[in-house]
Amino acid sequence: TKEDLSEITDLYFDENGLIPAIIQEASSGEVLMMAYMNRESLEKTLETGKTWFYSRRRKRLWNKGESSGNQQIVKGIRYDCDGDTLLLQVEQIGVACHTGEKSCFYRELVESDRGSGQQQVLKMLEGIIKERRENPEEGSYTNYLFDSGLDKILKKVGEEAAEVIIASKNEHSADLIGEISDLVYHMMVLMQEKQITLDDVSEELMYRHQER
Ligand code: AMP
Ligand code: ZN
Ligand code: ZN
Ligand code: ZN
Repeated sequence: TKEDLSEITDLYFDENGLIPAIIQEASSGEVLMMAYMNRESLEKTLETGKTWFYSRRRKRLWNKGESSGNQQIVKGIRYDCDGDTLLLQVEQIGVACHTGEKSCFYRELVESDRGSGQQQVLKMLEGIIKERRENPEEGSYTNYLFDSGLDKILKKVGEEAAEVIIASKNEHSADLIGEISDLVYHMMVLMQEKQITLDDVSEELMYRHQER
């Protein structure tokens, strides 16, 4: 992040001195909320690494989480092509919305035609695994795997693959969906370790599909 805001000349604050800020969860990309910032609140955001907004109703600066404790730790800030909108990537403590929902955008006006988003869940998982690697968390199993190294990850992939086989053959054994999920998760930890993305795999699969 650029520390000195005066150097950023391409930001457009509107006639009231405000700029909309979209708040996105850094790990998953989920949109959490939107609020307005003025120059001062953006400066405080840069200074403190937590989000500060300008409340149009209360006519004052407002630190998200000041009463709820649900603060937002800033991981990155972008601004759009014409400089009139900010996008902040954050780690959300608790939930973003004052209603108790995780995101303010929990209501649907038009139902998404992507269903429940089967691919998005993998994307989300990929984001979380990447986030853990970059910012280790106490007690995280994913961090335990990364700390133990490649051999441990490979051993787990092998074990989970074997468990998928066993669950497929044995009617009375543990749930096959669970075992497949374990395998997918450990494969994705391996992918992160080897710096392979879901996009890389999708590209390869699409390429093969076209080749037929
Ligand atoms: P908080 O910043 O979470 O301590 O909440 C303090 C007050 O800010 C709430 O009572 C709401 O009035 C307002 N507020 C908090 N979060 C949001 C949000 N996501 N969208 C709009 N207003 C909010
Ligand atoms: Zn554009
Ligand atoms: Zn714009
Ligand atoms: Zn809300």
